[in-house]
Amino acid sequence: MLVSGGTVITMDAHRRVIKNGAVRIRDNRIEQVGKADELRKSGGADVQIDADGMVIIPGLIDTHVHLAQALIRGCADDTELIGWLQKFVWPLQGNFDARDGKASAELCMLEMIKSGTTTFLESLLHSRYGFDGIANSLQESGMRGVLSKTVMGLPSYGGKESIMHPGMIEDAQTTLRDVEAHFKRWNGAANDRIKVWYGARSLGGCTPELFSQIATEARKLGTGITMHLSEVKEDVKYTQENFGMMPAEFMKKLGFVGPNVVFVHGVWLTEKEWAILAEKGATLAHCPSSNMKIASGIAPIPEMIRAGVNVSLGCDGGPSNNCYDMIREMKTASLLQKARLLDPLVMDAETVLEMATIRGAKALGLQDEIGSIEVGKKADLALVSMNKPHLTPVHNPVSHLVYAAEGSDVDTVIVDGKLVMEKRIVKTLDEELVLQEANERGGKLLERTGIVISPKWPPA
Ligand SMILES: [Zn+2]
Repeated sequence: MLVSGGTVITMDAHRRVIKNGAVRIRDNRIEQVGKADELRKSGGADVQIDADGMVIIPGLIDTHVHLAQALIRGCADDTELIGWLQKFVWPLQGNFDARDGKASAELCMLEMIKSGTTTFLESLLHSRYGFDGIANSLQESGMRGVLSKTVMGLPSYGGKESIMHPGMIEDAQTTLRDVEAHFKRWNGAANDRIKVWYGARSLGGCTPELFSQIATEARKLGTGITMHLSEVKEDVKYTQENFGMMPAEFMKKLGFVGPNVVFVHGVWLTEKEWAILAEKGATLAHCPSSNMKIASGIAPIPEMIRAGVNVSLGCDGGPSNNCYDMIREMKTASLLQKARLLDPLVMDAETVLEMATIRGAKALGLQDEIGSIEVGKKADLALVSMNKPHLTPVHNPVSHLVYAAEGSDVDTVIVDGKLVMEKRIVKTLDEELVLQEANERGGKLLERTGIVISPKWPPA
């Protein structure tokens, strides 16, 4: 396959941007990157993709996704985290069955593909969502993804005990065994597009012993762990009152923190804790829209990056963001820090694009495989059309991508050398069918749960 004619933002070590560039793909890997004229001369191709007027970027990497929340978008607005979980999100998800899980996952993947995301890290799959159904959908979607199965032992959040909906409760030993079984069945499947990780439930959801056990078992399998950490002040209160430590110190003491760990949010982490993440090579997935919408706080991201932490980007979920569009998220990530620090220099477009690509790849331990357009890497690309009023003229494509573009400007998506979307037509999932199924299942789920979404302005 030869993709030629656009501007290639390589994200390679030199951060080369190639005008009138081209990418040649053989099987699932990038074979050549360079000027279009030269690559065209060096041979033909079975598939020619004309990228004239487009920017060719590495496929975006969303390092914090809840697949099962696409179906409940808009069902928990204007509420803080614990009330948001207790009154809306847990009762709704606690009523999911495997068909809801599949419908929500496909809806979410469709949205990600259509906004240029090629790889995602799902953080907490409970058994009732149907792991196998979701893994099958991931295989079919053509995307690359990490599926983390929830491991938990307590129905609590921080010090707030027994607040979880009964439908969400699972026990420690079963959940640990589940991850192992899913790992054996799915890790490396679909030409290595699928990975299986441990999804540790938040602080208060696991005993200290269980956190240690997760860390040990993940090391044994050679796989990763993801976990929400210091998202809200309750996390800090919980570890301080019960263990006399800050959350990241507590996790370090349990032998949990390492390069295979992606912590999420980190809003209330302190300088001492940034040093722990940096020293241990752990990643922090930053989710600015979610933090703003649930009013969790603002994570001091430029300070963490300066402290040496690998920071990636995530959209989080349907009721917290409320969309899975990494291009919009990049803009939010940048503007939030500028406003917080009253300094336009603290978070430039280049840094944010790194968080959404190469630093996301590092988060997943896939920095040698994806995250940049380089010879030998897997061919995961997104072509963004600049032929739009809000993107014309193109003086600086990186600026346009972060500050002016939106997900719907993505025209074509390639994952593992295969066309997943061409000219906005998704070639893997059946878009119409996915939307229809989501509408039906979403309606029935609300009926079953008994939650009524009453808009503040009554419909006439
Ligand atoms: Zn989350």
